[in-house]
Amino acid sequence: MEAIVCKFGGSSVADENCIRRIESIIRADKRRRYIVVSAPGKREADDQKITDLLYLCHELADQGLDIEEPFHIIRNRFLDIARGLKVGLDIESILDEIYRQIKGGASSDLAASRGEYLSARLLADYLGGVFIEAAEVIKFQAEGRIAGITYELVAEQLSEEHLYVIPGFYGSDANNKIRTFSRGGSDITGAIVARGVGASVYENWTDVSGFLMTDPGVVDNPRPMQAVTYREIRELSYMGAKVFHEEAIFPVSEAKIPINIRNTHRPEDPGTMIVHKREIKEDIIAGIAGKPDFSLIFIEKFLMNRERGFGRRLFGILESHGISFEHAPTGIDTMSVVISDEELQDKAEIVMDEIKRVLSPDRIELFSGLALIATVGEGMAYRPGVAARLFTALYESGVNIRIIDQGSSEINIIVGVKSEDYSRAVNAIYHAFC
Ligand code: ADP
Ligand code: ASP
Ligand code: MG
Repeated sequence: MEAIVCKFGGSSVADENCIRRIESIIRADKRRRYIVVSAPGKREADDQKITDLLYLCHELADQGLDIEEPFHIIRNRFLDIARGLKVGLDIESILDEIYRQIKGGASSDLAASRGEYLSARLLADYLGGVFIEAAEVIKFQAEGRIAGITYELVAEQLSEEHLYVIPGFYGSDANNKIRTFSRGGSDITGAIVARGVGASVYENWTDVSGFLMTDPGVVDNPRPMQAVTYREIRELSYMGAKVFHEEAIFPVSEAKIPINIRNTHRPEDPGTMIVHKREIKEDIIAGIAGKPDFSLIFIEKFLMNRERGFGRRLFGILESHGISFEHAPTGIDTMSVVISDEELQDKAEIVMDEIKRVLSPDRIELFSGLALIATVGEGMAYRPGVAARLFTALYESGVNIRIIDQGSSEINIIVGVKSEDYSRAVNAIYHAFC
């Protein structure tokens, strides 16, 4: 029988009512047999995420401090859900064991993973489904990649016609130690399960009616995308659109399994389909995403283009300081490197001194406080006038562009603007195309 994998994010399992809502979504379609869950997220804006509280407990325990207070909040959240749903599971004993593990020096990954573990145990019990221990099927290799065996294990252990519930966000390494993905990683678990069981669709249920053309926190009511390609979503996710984890694309795109982003609060909405290929009509632009906190090192040297190995030496300097860069836009006599502040840390001065010494530029300058904005769309590069429309919109809204980089994938135009202009710039681009 055809099967659908459903991943429910933190806000979709935040309390008893949310879980009742997802139950009706699951029961509405018999093909929804593989359920991947996150840890309970925020119930309202100023609430706390269980995962954040677990990381906090680990940190406190690590410093020999008391974890009573944050753990108490975790305990009550789960007990409330269990009581509300009237599950038979002895959740108190599981919580006691987790408390002991964290106090006893559990790794940060183990501590953080317990939110998803508890969430899945509760849901499996409530739905009468089969709980699958993620650590036994999701296997990491040494460098943090997913081991190929994972897909075989998933296919093998989830082969019956049951309803399965699998915790997101974690698996285990070659030594069977719990290991988590980066934050938001339950999306990756969902993608792996979808690939492993050969699902017809990977439904990713969240709190918005699909992938919106841009961050709803920046633009009021942006339009949801109907269809968008894997490549477009990967660029948008990488550039800061945090609806869907950027690494969750690969497992499903390789198998061409469509991803459907849906809203738990509005299950009647069709959401966004992420597919291999889409028809491009008026919607040249798929979406706009951005990231704050970048710096730019600008280098100018007359006849730089004739100097063999200039770029190599420049990148060599960055590499020797363990810095990876984001973009390197070039002109005839200029070269810039854009580096995230997280990478650059406090090494700007020392790196610039070395560049001066090794490459003797005519001019070198550092610009900080930049935000990068990516406008993404398949086929955009081949349409005349797209760039002009984008730059005119920015100009007319009074935004000064510091960097322009047409991504080498040709589905992306990146501009760098001052951080304080970020919101104005995103709004200007959005309204120029929508
Ligand atoms: P989940 O807990 O379900 O995994 P996330 O919080 O990770 O959900 O992602 C959904 C949130 O992403 C939305 O509530 C929204 O605020 C935010 N978001 C940012 N950019 C976008 C975008 N382009 N489209 C939709 N949502 C976006
Ligand atoms: N609970 C984890 C986090 O908050 C993973 C996830 O929700 O996807 O990052
Ligand atoms: Mg998420």
